[in-house]
Amino acid sequence: MSLPVASDTPTGFPAFVEVAVLPAIPGKDVLTYRVPDRHRETVRPGMRVLVPLGRRHETGLVVALTGTPPAAAPERVRDLEDLLDTEPILTEELFALCRWAARYYVTTLTEVLATALPGGLRASTTRVVRLADPAPPGGARGSLEAAILATLGARGALDERRLARALGRPGVGPALRALADRKLVVVEERIRPPAGATRFEAVLTLGAALAERDAADLARRAPAQHALYERLRAAGGRLAAGTMTPRERVAAAALVRRGLAARAREERYRDARPPVDAAAAPPVLTAEQQAVMAAVPEAPAFRGFLLHGVTGSGKTEVYLRLAARAVAAGRSALLLVPEIALTHQLVRRVQERFGARVALLHSALAPGERWDEWRRILRGEAVVVVGTRSAVFAPLARLGVVIVDEEHDAAYKQDEGLRYQGRDLALVRAKLAGVPAVLGSATPSVESYHQAASGRFTRLALPTRVEGRPLPTVEIVDLRARDRTDSRLFSRRLLETAAGALARREQVLLFLNRRGFAPIMQCVACGEPTGCPSCTVSLTWHQRRNVLLCHHCGFTRPPAARCGACGSGELVALGEGTEQVEAEVVRLFPEARIARLDRDTIGSKGAHRRILDAWREGALDVLIGTQMVAKGHDVPGVTVVGVLLADVALNLPDFRAGERAFQLLTQVAGRAGRGSAPGRVIVQTYRPEHHSLVAAAAHDFEGFAARELAMRAEVGYPPFERLAVLRLEGADAAATEDAAQALAAAATRAAAGRARVRGPAPAPLERLRGRWRWQIMLTTPSAAALNDALRRALAAWRGSPRARAIRLVVDVDPVSML
Ligand code: ADP
Ligand code: ZN
Ligand code: ZN
Repeated sequence: MSLPVASDTPTGFPAFVEVAVLPAIPGKDVLTYRVPDRHRETVRPGMRVLVPLGRRHETGLVVALTGTPPAAAPERVRDLEDLLDTEPILTEELFALCRWAARYYVTTLTEVLATALPGGLRASTTRVVRLADPAPPGGARGSLEAAILATLGARGALDERRLARALGRPGVGPALRALADRKLVVVEERIRPPAGATRFEAVLTLGAALAERDAADLARRAPAQHALYERLRAAGGRLAAGTMTPRERVAAAALVRRGLAARAREERYRDARPPVDAAAAPPVLTAEQQAVMAAVPEAPAFRGFLLHGVTGSGKTEVYLRLAARAVAAGRSALLLVPEIALTHQLVRRVQERFGARVALLHSALAPGERWDEWRRILRGEAVVVVGTRSAVFAPLARLGVVIVDEEHDAAYKQDEGLRYQGRDLALVRAKLAGVPAVLGSATPSVESYHQAASGRFTRLALPTRVEGRPLPTVEIVDLRARDRTDSRLFSRRLLETAAGALARREQVLLFLNRRGFAPIMQCVACGEPTGCPSCTVSLTWHQRRNVLLCHHCGFTRPPAARCGACGSGELVALGEGTEQVEAEVVRLFPEARIARLDRDTIGSKGAHRRILDAWREGALDVLIGTQMVAKGHDVPGVTVVGVLLADVALNLPDFRAGERAFQLLTQVAGRAGRGSAPGRVIVQTYRPEHHSLVAAAAHDFEGFAARELAMRAEVGYPPFERLAVLRLEGADAAATEDAAQALAAAATRAAAGRARVRGPAPAPLERLRGRWRWQIMLTTPSAAALNDALRRALAAWRGSPRARAIRLVVDVDPVSML
């Protein structure tokens, strides 16, 4: 694989470059720039450059070198201004991946690159305006010019945008140009460096060697200098200036004057990785784990593997061994995880095993930290990368293996901007690099399972837990026929089981996938629930904060005493959330040490970690939470898991609701019985016969998958058909519907019978953040036909005047159908 390089200039160096200018403008892709002579020898694909765009400069990424200007309007090609890198920061393999993604997701290479590159890497320029000094004769013509001069006089130099804001206008360009022409103001362009710049550190290094006699002399006449010289030598000839005392700094200056030391500036990484101790020796692999290792070839060749291992079966240990094997062979390993916050046990294990050779990439990094991790990877200093979905773009060289943990997790899908699926891109990346990809899960996605069943992936299995610990027993409690207790939330079965565990000083995990106290506040007179003014959902009552909150847009209001619709009715709280469960547990088990883990309780930094640490150390008896408690926490003291209402997951308006429910229940059940005592799981529901629940209770993944696949085949959903959603969002209800009708007609023409077009229909969340939402679904068994239909439909849409008022989101392989 190599990048197109056509260089027919006399010198043999490129005369033009194609540049992806960031940030991406929808629908606009790479631009061509001329390379000035001074940069011809150094410019290469993958370098950042500063380029003129309109009246400003922006950062771009060189995607290709070329000898020829564009055929259209070659006279309008401008010179690139400067190179921002001395080495490429993107590899050829990544370009190939980004090109693939641009094609598949029907977007521009520029947009993919903007997503792939670490944030905060863009330099930009601003135009700063000040009064000319001395002021030339003549003054303002008109009130705007007068206002500009007065503002600059009062506030001094201002950047153009701030000046416009101060004057309360969208822009002041023409007036400024007129003033500059008459030399009344001076406009200068200034570079704003990227937020994620390389950090340098001042160091003192060893200069000329000191003969023994001179050393004795120095020790006598200048003991402070001598002491510093010795310290510098002992430190291997390099001392950070930041570690020196004020007296040492004076001595350092003298040493530099004597030529015995020199000053230098060195790069320093910010360290975003929490410190960990090296681990004890890794365990001896079980026979099952060994079989998995043997099945994944050591020699680099692409192959997809689905590692289906029950919770606690030792999958993570296999990931670590696969990475170690790649590293031992001089290669690197990419390990994707759904969320860093929920997987810090795994992250710690990777760090214990690989120490400083690990890089972490996730969204919580500051731009500078991310830039440093990026460079450590690029330079081959970090060879094991652990990260969330965007880490699929990490610039690893000599990749040896790609691993995706919890491959079924919806967090791999980016739900804004470029809607890519990290797991799928990981497979493409492995294919481009020619290395194996291992997707692991206790509950594989129906899609991956189908790939394995049809032979496109190789199936690997870890069917039993390490050390033969049994899987927990799962019991379904029918809430319709339940044995009444005085608690609205707890069946007798759950209450007694939890009480028994607490009496034995075991830990109890209670799961409800809904935060707040009650999801609905309903009027007793007119039956109207209190809804969000901008979304078609009802507001959730949060008792502790005493607010009604929209879980989609964040709108809050104080709870009203009377119904807003009829003005008279009283409001009652319906349904339950984790806050209510907590209140109920406090009432039922007053002695227990209780904590709640959901998005409301992790507001402060580190709170999430503190709660989980306390849980792990056994300092808590009951933990109540949303899906945050379902994943990845290996706490041996937990013997009972209670699912308060499984129906919350089952009732989502999404064709994957059954699959999500099965996965969530299996995950949360897997939290029980990780230690020596066996685990018990109680699942409360009003739909005890639902196949997702029955299969999860029986630990019957195969049965579940077979049933689910049969249903998907019947209605023509993935994995049997490829699916894309076109979603339209507009402020005006009628205009949005109208646009949806027009786009559906265009899509039908574009599909030309090769893809099925369903809709338009209002989205399940018909109004969100004040915008009306409609959607159109395209399905077809052929990925190529789908791509082609989308491309044509989009071309038709872009030419239509409606495209200005209505936002169109293209979601290929959507994960959430809301
Ligand atoms: P999973 O990722 O499938 O949930 P883990 O790799 O986390 O499983 O393993 C579960 C537990 O068993 C962990 O505490 C891990 O340290 C331990 N473990 C894994 N493999 C072995 C082994 N071969 N021998 C002993 N203990 C192991
Ligand atoms: Zn009412
Ligand atoms: Zn809302």
